[in-house]
Amino acid sequence: MVEDKPGFVNNDLNLGNLVSSCALECYNHPEKVLKDKQLTKYRSAKNGYLDKFTVLASLVAIIPKESEQDSSDEGEPEPKRRKVKLENALEVMPLTLTTGLKTMPNERIQKLSNGRLIHDCHAEILSIRLLNLIILNEIAEIVKGRTSTLLRKADMPGKYTLINKKTQFALYISEIPCGDCSIDNTKHGSLDKTEWEDKGTTKTGVARGRNNFDKVGIVRTKPGRSDSLVSYSKSCSDKLCLKQFTSLLSCHTYDLIEDHSLFYLKYLVLPEAKINTTSIQRCFYGRFIDNVEERHLKNFKNLSVLPTDIIFETKNTPCNTSILYSPMTAFLQVLNNGIKDGCSSKNGIKASNQSEISRESLMKKAILLNRILASFENYQCFKESLAERRSLKLAVKNGLGGWGKSSSDNFSLHFGKI
Ligand SMILES: [Zn+2]
Repeated sequence: MVEDKPGFVNNDLNLGNLVSSCALECYNHPEKVLKDKQLTKYRSAKNGYLDKFTVLASLVAIIPKESEQDSSDEGEPEPKRRKVKLENALEVMPLTLTTGLKTMPNERIQKLSNGRLIHDCHAEILSIRLLNLIILNEIAEIVKGRTSTLLRKADMPGKYTLINKKTQFALYISEIPCGDCSIDNTKHGSLDKTEWEDKGTTKTGVARGRNNFDKVGIVRTKPGRSDSLVSYSKSCSDKLCLKQFTSLLSCHTYDLIEDHSLFYLKYLVLPEAKINTTSIQRCFYGRFIDNVEERHLKNFKNLSVLPTDIIFETKNTPCNTSILYSPMTAFLQVLNNGIKDGCSSKNGIKASNQSEISRESLMKKAILLNRILASFENYQCFKESLAERRSLKLAVKNGLGGWGKSSSDNFSLHFGKI
């Protein structure tokens, strides 16, 4: 595979199409994995999208087939031959399939969450959260003496690693991520420009959504209607930038994994027709690389953008629900308004109504694997204990500039019996 210059678009359409076709095949054929009630639930959620607009994301593991790795001879330039070779040399395994484009306003989070609300339901962010749930579940299986298709025990006690250390992670997204890498598209697109002109920033100085779209290279909050309640959730462009330094691992899985360097995102697969090379290079490299303290740069692993010309068909009216689906583990959940679809949040969010990828749910799973975590007073104290990770995140946020505040969502870790 080609090693790219940081932040550059890699023109390997075959590899991009291999990843996206594998994701779409799983999206369109859940019956290969799901049965009975699960299948009905999936189909009814997917049918809800028929006249709606949504974004599809899928994290895919690309695993070299050991025995056939060296069998490809060079000098076969025809695209068709190259594709066959790719399919022969690589195994592509979709880990997650997620849909969604909604964000919770800060007001709802402060009023209701206590760790139980999913703040950010943009498809790509859901996929990364779902990967961390899969990692926790797979480790729980290994602890019980069963095997995992992705992970195994590492040499260091209490730590885990990938079965195949040559595995690379690719994230397919059916749209260019919101924020800086798509702001030039927004500027030149059909959006009603008057709606977002000069409405300024949030109280903490972060550019709101598509405000001031003549400014590029800046941190933005999630887009939404200009009259919507404020969300401090940062754009997917900004969050993906951070992942280039911290890996795909969340605070829940960070200490369980032996070698974090195996869990970085290698490829972002995006629709070829919408890729703007200048925006991509600025967003994922140029705008921050000179501003991050040198001692933190060793953690940077750049992602490469791969094009795909396989189209994900969708309509115009935004859809409220999100599908969380793992073809690898047959996990399925449908979300609405940040909690399980069909559940009410009228009198607060019951534990049973929260998603399995909520902060509280992930924390409970992490505590079952490492009881020491239960000694922390609350979630915030636990996060602060990951000092190295925290200082790295802060350095990157400073490098990006204007990150501003995020919604606080703290809760006690004294759960009693889990
Ligand atoms: Zn987004």
